Amino acid sequence: MDSTIKQIIQTIFNNLKDELDVNQKNILVTGGAGFLGSWICDILVEKEANVICLDNLTSGLKDNISHLFNRDNFQFIDHDITKPIHFDKKLDLILHLSSRASRGEFEKFPIQILKANLLGTWISLGIAKKYSCPLLFASTSEIYGNPPPEEVPTSEEYYGNVNPIGPRSCYDEGKRAGEAFVFSYYLQHNLDVRIVRIFNTYGPRMRSGDLYGRVIPRFIEQALKNQPITVYGDGTQTRSFIFVSDEVEAIIRAALLNSARGKVMNIGNELEFKIIDLAKKIKNLTNSNSKITFYPLPKDDPLRRSPDTSKAKKFLNWKPKISLEKGLELTIKWYRKKMQIYK
Ligand code: UDP
Repeated sequence: MDSTIKQIIQTIFNNLKDELDVNQKNILVTGGAGFLGSWICDILVEKEANVICLDNLTSGLKDNISHLFNRDNFQFIDHDITKPIHFDKKLDLILHLSSRASRGEFEKFPIQILKANLLGTWISLGIAKKYSCPLLFASTSEIYGNPPPEEVPTSEEYYGNVNPIGPRSCYDEGKRAGEAFVFSYYLQHNLDVRIVRIFNTYGPRMRSGDLYGRVIPRFIEQALKNQPITVYGDGTQTRSFIFVSDEVEAIIRAALLNSARGKVMNIGNELEFKIIDLAKKIKNLTNSNSKITFYPLPKDDPLRRSPDTSKAKKFLNWKPKISLEKGLELTIKWYRKKMQIYK
């Protein structure tokens, strides 16, 4: 296994020492071959849970999980969660993560994204209800849309400013409806549910390229190839970036701790960065000759994003630990190796 990946798994494993008892528990992870799902599978397998990883591999990658195929406590099922499925053993926990999540995919696959978050969530909830097991739903900062300045940092109390028919609405509204679905099972059936609103996360295994590429893998790849770094707008729009180890630790805590039952929590890093500053930072850290170039800001691109994470800190006994600098260094190291660019 790649040394950076091993190091990150060890970090998350150590950070979770206190809380986690998943020994022999049957845990279903939908979207388990994706960026976040695969890290979650890694940790749960290390912690001796019986992990069922379900993915239709439309945006997840077999490469992310193939190292787990020889583990007795790991099972991969190639399945689309928008279609019914039956399990031959009782489940103890479900983490429902399935969904494409990048802007390129919003444009190309809006219907599949809505289906994953509506039908896929409904089917996951039905399975959770059958086994009376807790379900964690992976929601998103996108449910807040484009908040006004006085709502940044954004708390869970803010209801959002979302375009229902724009280029991002399949994801934003899909996740909003997904949350409503999950909460309705909580209210009507008293199902044990937890919702995490995931803010911009980055790290190894995140896909790059035009279709899947989020800003950090795109800028790293462009910088390593000495190609122009493509900043949209004037780059003054902001995001708050959380390294994958911090995000995954919080998601697993939210799935397992009783204090998270029935709660909705922002999971992210509160430090807000301008995209132009991110471009400069990545250019410096990679010693790149790339030029920074500017393109029009895509429609409905949120202008500011930063979470208020006081709720997660309180209920999960957690806080992000990895600085942007350190996280970018680890991520760049992994991409260099993947792309075989060592200078
Ligand atoms: N972005 C950019 N250049 C790129 C890709 C993205 O300037 O090549 C910007 C994008 O407009 C947005 C921010 O980076 O303001 C984060 O984009 P990403 O797609 O990573 O996530 P999201 O917009 O969903 O937060």
